[in-house]
Amino acid sequence: MNIQYLLDDLVADIKATPPEGNVADYIPGLETVDPDQFGIAVAMNSGETYSAGNSSTEFSIQSISKVFTLALTIAKDEDDLWTRVSREPSGTPFNSLVQLEHEHGIPRNPFINSGALVVTDRLLTLTGDSHACLQTFLREQSSNPSIEVNEAIAASESLTGHRNASLAYFLTSYQNLVNPVPEVLNAYFRQCAIAMSCEDLARGGSFLSRGGIGANGRVLTADQVRRLNAVMLTCGTYDAAGDFAYRVGLPCKSGVGGGILAVAPGTCTIAVWGPRLGKSGNSAAGVTALAKLTERTGWSVF
Ligand code: GLU
Repeated sequence: MNIQYLLDDLVADIKATPPEGNVADYIPGLETVDPDQFGIAVAMNSGETYSAGNSSTEFSIQSISKVFTLALTIAKDEDDLWTRVSREPSGTPFNSLVQLEHEHGIPRNPFINSGALVVTDRLLTLTGDSHACLQTFLREQSSNPSIEVNEAIAASESLTGHRNASLAYFLTSYQNLVNPVPEVLNAYFRQCAIAMSCEDLARGGSFLSRGGIGANGRVLTADQVRRLNAVMLTCGTYDAAGDFAYRVGLPCKSGVGGGILAVAPGTCTIAVWGPRLGKSGNSAAGVTALAKLTERTGWSVF
């Protein structure tokens, strides 16, 4: 199979038939991105990386960061976390307050915003500086020492993230955040505003397809990675996880910056990026490209 040819072909398809959809505008810093860019990168477990389109352009990883903070937390202490967050698809928007009240302050899963705030809170307790821990990890795993936060995006979300602030105070009222809300929010906004390219992300997430082995050795046990991939498959793509499993058939995590990280366990890790979002908040071009890629390669967990 000629993977480079396949990726070039996918990029040509997307350019020929650009997807509909709009960039996320509720975070002001994301509005200014050129919406018609598209990139894809595949990091094979055997070591090669293939890429095409705008694969080296950095974008805001947003909720894809939640996979990495979850991995770092699980690596240090899995048991405590799962008493504070469930592992079920939410079926409601990723920033829902209603569901959190209904379920007495226990978020449905670690990838909706309330769940990610609890994960960040736990990582803050475990490390003293969750953001530094995450940034160091991403730089090491991607072999890119210049991965940074986009400060303008972090600041714009901090100014406008009232709903995340509400979720954080709400969690505190249920004693499900232990650190001060401003500290947790600051760490959360900064992790979402990290800028990475598809190439960085595909390499950075390689431990997910390599049974827990990262760039410098083991990150997670094989069992932990299997479970993390299961949470990605069932909860990683907003309210469209069922459709993703149907069309793509891989554990994925998307972000409102237009990126999607996908894992073909035992084979490769894939990152795609296209800023126009479909109605569930997933990259429209990203879903189309991943569905075609898995159809043509047979990379599916099913
Ligand atoms: N920083 C975004 C928020 O909290 C992340 C959303 C996303 O990518 O799903 O609203």
